[in-house]
Amino acid sequence: MILDAFNLQGKVAIVTGSGTGLGRGMAVGLAEAGADIAGVYNSSEPDCAGVITGMGRKFLGIKADLADLDQIEPIVDKTIENFGRVDILVNNAGIIRRQPALEFSRENWDEVLNLNLRSLFFLAQAVARRFVAQKSGGKIINIASMLSFQGGILVPSYTASKSGVMGLTRELACEWAAHNINVNAIAPGYMATENTRALQQDPVRNADILKRIPAGHWGRPEDLAGAAVFLASEAASYIHGYTLAVDGGWLAR
Ligand code: NAD
Repeated sequence: MILDAFNLQGKVAIVTGSGTGLGRGMAVGLAEAGADIAGVYNSSEPDCAGVITGMGRKFLGIKADLADLDQIEPIVDKTIENFGRVDILVNNAGIIRRQPALEFSRENWDEVLNLNLRSLFFLAQAVARRFVAQKSGGKIINIASMLSFQGGILVPSYTASKSGVMGLTRELACEWAAHNINVNAIAPGYMATENTRALQQDPVRNADILKRIPAGHWGRPEDLAGAAVFLASEAASYIHGYTLAVDGGWLAR
């Protein structure tokens, strides 16, 4: 039955940036659909642990600085040690730096590209190698952005990184579909999280953004859960290399 194809019971998902915002929303959604969660975080232990274990699912917190490539392989190793397998990766952790392009610093360029694109690729590679070794196939969901489609303003490194995420999603989908690995992306619209705090607090930008969203309000982390569960499930098995916007209609304007 089709609803069974959405069930993630018995699956293990690695979710990066699981302690806050969209990562937390997707980790809880995947757990509601049945998955056990390896939640990667870099500051305090994610508070979604209690919510997830409260549902009868397992949660393993893994502290790692994803900007350091040496910390990437151990994430997969710890997941396998604890759960015996991995089926899903949600490559969600990301940062943004705002500064006019004429003044943009090398630090603001490197930090964003390193985390949002370089680490995202090498974690996808580490997990895909495991999928191939398991002969299980698997699902990779990268978190893109409206700025995978549009230019934005004051965010050159972020736009470059998220445009790269959409392109890389297509590239990896083409290489790995033959291994029964689905690589897709979700492009969130304007979501009320830490990432967009500066915009929410700027009365002019906030009003401009709200006026342009057909749905009329900022998105919430839980708004991504349905798309994440779908793309992580067997229901999406013939979807490869697609970036799904969850944006309250922003791109439709
Ligand atoms: P957020 O700042 O709450 O989440 C970012 C997460 O990444 C945090 O949990 C943080 O701990 C983690 N992180 C940052 N640096 C890390 C590092 N070096 N190692 C490990 N983890 C690290 O903001 P969010 O909005 O939830 O962002 C999640 C993702 O969604 C990001 O990739 C962001 O670019 C993307 N996104 C957000 C929006 C939005 O409107 N909020 C829109 C489009 C895309």
